[in-house]
Amino acid sequence: MREDTRQWMEADKRHCWHPFTPQEAWTAPDHQPLVMARGEGAWLWDSEGRKYFDGNSSIWTNIHGHNHPVLNEALRKQSEEVAHTSYLGFANPRASELAEKLVSFFPPSTLERVFFSDNGSTAVEVAMKMSLQFWMQSGEPKRSRFVAFANAYHGDTMGAASLGGVSRFFERFRKFGVEVDFVASLDELAQLDSEGIAAVIIEPLIQGVNEMRPWPQGMLGSLREFCDGAGMHLILDEVMTGFGRTGTMFACEQEEVVPDFLCLAKGLTGGYMPLAATLTTGQVYEAFLGSEENAFYYGHSYTANPLGCAVALASLGLFESENTLELLKPKIVAMSEFLRELKNEQTLVHEVRQCGFIAGIELRQQDGEPFPAGQKMGERFCMAAREHGLLTRPIRDTIVMMPPLCSEIGDLEIWRRALKAL
Ligand code: PLP
Repeated sequence: MREDTRQWMEADKRHCWHPFTPQEAWTAPDHQPLVMARGEGAWLWDSEGRKYFDGNSSIWTNIHGHNHPVLNEALRKQSEEVAHTSYLGFANPRASELAEKLVSFFPPSTLERVFFSDNGSTAVEVAMKMSLQFWMQSGEPKRSRFVAFANAYHGDTMGAASLGGVSRFFERFRKFGVEVDFVASLDELAQLDSEGIAAVIIEPLIQGVNEMRPWPQGMLGSLREFCDGAGMHLILDEVMTGFGRTGTMFACEQEEVVPDFLCLAKGLTGGYMPLAATLTTGQVYEAFLGSEENAFYYGHSYTANPLGCAVALASLGLFESENTLELLKPKIVAMSEFLRELKNEQTLVHEVRQCGFIAGIELRQQDGEPFPAGQKMGERFCMAAREHGLLTRPIRDTIVMMPPLCSEIGDLEIWRRALKAL
């Protein structure tokens, strides 16, 4: 091992604290974390020079590949102008351009306002607070509860975490959060007393952290109709599904749904910078006018960071100049075919689930029973897959397949090689 790798590892184990990570196992003497040092396209290199395929797009963020010359140039150019100026009290050129670009994806007079923040959790947090305050200022202050779906994941800040349905992550904080009803289906939602509900939130088309589980076709459209009928807001969390992952720029396009709030982050900057946006309608916006008291008192120091906005604009430009969504179509078909083959070839592949260029490969025992939780089969597979040059992560025993959109069809073979070695 190189001396600098050893020093980075030691400093990490001495001082760093990783997300979602039991730290005893991480800092154990025999655990040698990979130190990621370089990237190009869909590939990453560790500090020892070993090459890996970025099988989960660096936690669902990367779109056009790492180290992309156009994105690098956008960052360089912006940093030579200015890296950051406050958005509190000032506008900035890139934020104005980006807001204009984002609203242009939606029909006129629908989503027409953009509120910037830093990450997926804050994009959701903003939508929640805007919805609550909207009802306070619209004569319906009793609308103060949210509805979320079972097993949902919407982030880790206190408000967003209240909407999370994964008990291991969120249960211990439940009593500190906002009031939420969890439902498993539209039918269950229809049973609730709708009067006190401010908004329903959903990950459209597919729930990510719930082991990549797609919703039934048509569900999103029906949910929009239900929310309209019951007079409650619909918040779409497209933090994972946004920016082409499901085959269209946004998942909601596929069922011609426009939400009251749209939460975007992760792929917004092509996976380069932490930036988020919450889009909302003119109708919501207008409820915040009329007096100083009505303003939305919320913000972060790096709101609308110019570097983030510049690289987001460049990433959206690449969708056009590189014809990303057109080129993705045959890759999605090839992924379906590939997953079908994997299921036939590999007895431990119990089910494959796909939505666009997102998939989950669920591993089970040969008799179809889940592996005992203690075996940590998904985790063991992902550690072993590194030997075959594949980096991804499991959600329990479901292996995430979410390559950057720039990947080649042939890159998927790496999963076959890793699974064969099981
Ligand atoms: N919403 C969804 C659907 C997500 O998948 C995630 C992260 O995985 C988040 C929100 C939270 O985003 P962040 O990790 O940027 O706070």
